[in-house]
Amino acid sequence: MPNKPPFKPSSAAAGGWGALKASGESLLKNTGLVKGVKTMLKANKPDGFDCPGCAWGDPEHGSSFEFCENGVKAVTWEATKDVVPASLFERHSMDDLRKLSDRELESMGRLTKPLRYSHKVGLYEEVSWDAAFAEIAGELNALPSADNAAFYTSGRASNEAAFLYQLMGRLYGTNNFPDCSNMCHEASGVALSAAIGVGKGTVTLDDFDKAEVIFVLGQNPGSNHPRMLAELKKAIKRGAKVITLNPLKERGLERFTDPKNSSEMLLGLSTPISSHYLNVKLGGDMAVMRGIAKALLTWDYENVLSGTVLRQFIDEHCENFQSYESAVERSTWKEIEDQSGLSQRKIEEIARIYAQSNRVIFCWAMGITQHEHSVDTIREITNVALLRGNVGKAGAGLCPVRGHSNVQGDRTMGINERPSPAFLRTLGSVFDFSPPRKQGINTVETIASMLAGNVKALVCLGGNFARATPDTEQVEEALGKLRLTVNIATKLNRSHLITGEKAFILPCLGRTEFDEQLGGRQLVSVEDSMSMVHGSAGINQPISKELRSEPAIIAGIAKHLVGSDKVNWDGLIGDYDEIRKLIEKVVPGFHEFNARLRQNRGFYLGNAAREREWVTPNKRANFSYASLPLQTVVQRCDKAEVPTFTLQTLRSHDQYNTTVYSDNDRYRGIKGNRRVLFICEADLRKAGFKNGARVDIMTVSEDKRQRVAYDFTLVAYDSPQGCLAAYYPETNVLVPLYSVGVESHTPTSKAIPVTLRRTVA
Ligand code: SF4
Repeated sequence: MPNKPPFKPSSAAAGGWGALKASGESLLKNTGLVKGVKTMLKANKPDGFDCPGCAWGDPEHGSSFEFCENGVKAVTWEATKDVVPASLFERHSMDDLRKLSDRELESMGRLTKPLRYSHKVGLYEEVSWDAAFAEIAGELNALPSADNAAFYTSGRASNEAAFLYQLMGRLYGTNNFPDCSNMCHEASGVALSAAIGVGKGTVTLDDFDKAEVIFVLGQNPGSNHPRMLAELKKAIKRGAKVITLNPLKERGLERFTDPKNSSEMLLGLSTPISSHYLNVKLGGDMAVMRGIAKALLTWDYENVLSGTVLRQFIDEHCENFQSYESAVERSTWKEIEDQSGLSQRKIEEIARIYAQSNRVIFCWAMGITQHEHSVDTIREITNVALLRGNVGKAGAGLCPVRGHSNVQGDRTMGINERPSPAFLRTLGSVFDFSPPRKQGINTVETIASMLAGNVKALVCLGGNFARATPDTEQVEEALGKLRLTVNIATKLNRSHLITGEKAFILPCLGRTEFDEQLGGRQLVSVEDSMSMVHGSAGINQPISKELRSEPAIIAGIAKHLVGSDKVNWDGLIGDYDEIRKLIEKVVPGFHEFNARLRQNRGFYLGNAAREREWVTPNKRANFSYASLPLQTVVQRCDKAEVPTFTLQTLRSHDQYNTTVYSDNDRYRGIKGNRRVLFICEADLRKAGFKNGARVDIMTVSEDKRQRVAYDFTLVAYDSPQGCLAAYYPETNVLVPLYSVGVESHTPTSKAIPVTLRRTVA
């Protein structure tokens, strides 16, 4: 008997009273109203702290409430009054704790004491900081080679922590710096570097005030970058158009009620966000962009619409245009329609809007970056932008929207397994050593290397490695094979329970807590998606005196691991200005770092492409001329003998990366269940199931390995045929390690071929 579907369609706009209610609940549940409100009033403020949520930018002249509902969840989740009980590991075995859900583990509260685990003892015990630092360094130095270790970073780490981390690792002798960017915007970095010479977005927040059209591609800002909705609303109010490409109808891109707008709230008004909402098939975005280019070039050749292609800009600034024209020529409308799932007429409609606008921004996120051909797709987005000179002018440009508050900053600081020779040269001369030249390994390569027994130790600066990565069973097997695992963290998570022979949990300060060092209270810095570098200083008393800051923990290990001949670690921790003085010497664009960081809202790091200065080998912006993929995963699945579908993994509205705040997903109408599988009516019929039926999801694996996610409830949902969706980390078990993007090596979490079978209850 199928379950009663836990699905009640929600008609409410995004934001609105729902956002206020959810924010209030988070404040009451986590911090208490007084501390919570006091804390939130300092979020994203020049004299406050940076929200540990996403990497959306802060307006020059922000309002008193410079945060969103999910910012409240992220901040209060960290600033909770709860702590992990000291006796936890005496009262519960590791096996018992592993049975708990991600949310149950993190809900226990903050970690406050350094902990050590060994297989021999079978549980975590308290350990002193110095003993922990010495033992960790001892284990790492006992490894045959520095390349037997890997240093993972989650995008929450501040610039100062990230800079010290890479310095420690390189003095130790490795470039093994896998990071969460490998799993999210790596394709953006690879594609933009080749096309325009800088692997970062070219727009600033001000550009959103001037854009005539804003494309939102493979992104769900309503849940993942909520303050972006306010910018989109402003743009629409002044007549701009928002063109959305997304397989799913995401509420935030349909209607938005601004919680800060009293009349909208009182009168129940909302702003329609997308003027055009196209439900493209998974992996079909490249085809849509190619279709737009085909329409523009055709109209240009046939003089149907004058000036659709800015040839003067192209002649002056671009390379490979002719090759691109031929590639567009070769792409047929049939291919474009089949891969996108959209008609030529629909695509020409948005192409016409694009051709008649002069200032256009292209925004994108994981729906674009987690496919096999993501690099080609982002090159195609850039091609379409270049056709009309929409790079390097006000109100226009390319905007990969980062999901983690400092993921872009960490890369800028050198958290990169493929560092540039120039970066290593400067680092070596500033610290008088010879950095390792051998290329390091990214996240997927690190897992493979752990399975192969080459990587024997994994140090994690934040994050939840076991849950954020693909192929969960293989990752847990790999972690279990290690000699050493070290996690620097604020809250307990599953990665801490899947240990090496030896393991350490090192509890660090949160973003909201002040960081007192010898030199007084310290400021750290982060870089948002718009390349703005701004300061962040905690405002709350740390939840425990035992906690140490991320930089202090790294310095504590480094002193034992690489000594203090080359680096005065204590001096740097005493006053982070000293760290920034070193960053200034090593990383371009950080001149007068300390002074500029203390300006209102910090400073813009700059972007050469924004000035139409192309830092590419040929000093030109480069069109790419890749063909459309022979087949997308959706097309491959459509041709399969048994009913086969393409699954995308995604976040719910009550989730931030692998942190799950509740089992609800208000905008999609889900209550109390995370094991749901969104499927359209036509696919329900094709699969032979009813809405509410319980199924297992199985990957169609090329390596014959069984990958199964058990017991999911089918939820009929508006989606292109063949395209399913379910939440991660629960469905990361289905993402094969071998399935990665070309050039980006990013897991293809947006296009997994799967079949369904009735769950055996
Ligand atoms: S938009 Fe992002 S950075 Fe801003 S408050 Fe919300 S979660 Fe935090």
